[in-house]
Amino acid sequence: MVYNFSAGPAVLPKEVLQQAADEMLDWHGSGMSVMEMSHRGKEYMSIIEAALRDMRELFAVPTNYKILFLQGGAIAENAIIPMNLAGLRGKGAGVADYINTGSWSTKSIKEARRYCEVNVAASSEAEKFARIPARDTWKLSRDAAYVHLCTNETIDGVEYQFTPDVAADTDNAPIVADMSSHILSRAVDVSKYGVIYGGAQKNIGPAGLTIVIVREDLLGHALPICPSAFDWKTVADNDSMYNTPPTYAIYIAGLVFQWLKRQGGVAEMERRNIAKAKLLYDYLDSTEFYTTRIAKDCRSRMNAPFFLHDETLNETFLAGAKERGLLQLKGHKSVGGMRASIYNAMPIEGVEALVEYLRHFERTH
Ligand SMILES: *Cc1c(COP(=O)(O)O)cnc(C)c1O
Repeated sequence: MVYNFSAGPAVLPKEVLQQAADEMLDWHGSGMSVMEMSHRGKEYMSIIEAALRDMRELFAVPTNYKILFLQGGAIAENAIIPMNLAGLRGKGAGVADYINTGSWSTKSIKEARRYCEVNVAASSEAEKFARIPARDTWKLSRDAAYVHLCTNETIDGVEYQFTPDVAADTDNAPIVADMSSHILSRAVDVSKYGVIYGGAQKNIGPAGLTIVIVREDLLGHALPICPSAFDWKTVADNDSMYNTPPTYAIYIAGLVFQWLKRQGGVAEMERRNIAKAKLLYDYLDSTEFYTTRIAKDCRSRMNAPFFLHDETLNETFLAGAKERGLLQLKGHKSVGGMRASIYNAMPIEGVEALVEYLRHFERTH
């Protein structure tokens, strides 16, 4: 028995992996593996249509939004987003506002600068990304084409616990949110966003699938330099089949969506995720042996970076964790220390085992 705390690619539900194994050689009597199917055949069409339907239902995506299945990951989207949206106000690429809350926002900003003017409207970099900058400190642009956020910073461990209102300060600019590492972990009012995007490999499925949820009026504004395969309108008009979609990754994501529905959907996941995060943070707060650096009201429920007070024990800590089957707890190299990623597929028993180990390690060191 192991518990995998990897930040991504990350743990998947056992039941899903078992079902995929059972169906590997012969999907539903078709005589084919899903990997071998034509993406336009009726077997595969039934798989992708069910995945889209379930995603829409689970995440309560309104009917005036398209769900697109793409490739390239969130990092490719960092370029694809300005190429699709920077021209929203007409006259070529305009200005886009970005909120810098950590490593992933920083990357998004750097990439967007290649395609449009970027205004960093707020940043917590000076505070080492320990909090989300308060909304009333943001210096938004009146003519911003869009406002970009990373709503869960996987590396730094901060998460928005609110949806900012930017409409009045920006003449209704849409919010574009990178939700790679917490999509489907909590209820979201999708109608407050213009675009929600993320790679699947944190909280949904295998790497290779990128999900973009986009309000329909934001389609059709791509700059001429945008590759056709990444022009969201072209992708939407072709039901995510302008080019061959990542068929197997979509199939696994579809199995995860069915699993989520059996568990009770996003509301039940959110309830469990709150309980899991509370268990871990309460323990970390109860002792001086471990420390955390994130403001309490900005802590991520998905990714918890923490540090041993005595960092010379780091290697011993990790070796002992591995012996107990607690895997991939080493922090990101840019932050150091430890990081426990506790996505939807991590059961509460995994967090209990981690806390039990934290207590044991503290007692014995
Ligand atoms: C992992 C991650 C990315 C990068 O995803 P890729 O699939 O490697 O492109 C971007 N943003 C966030 C928030 C992430 O967690």
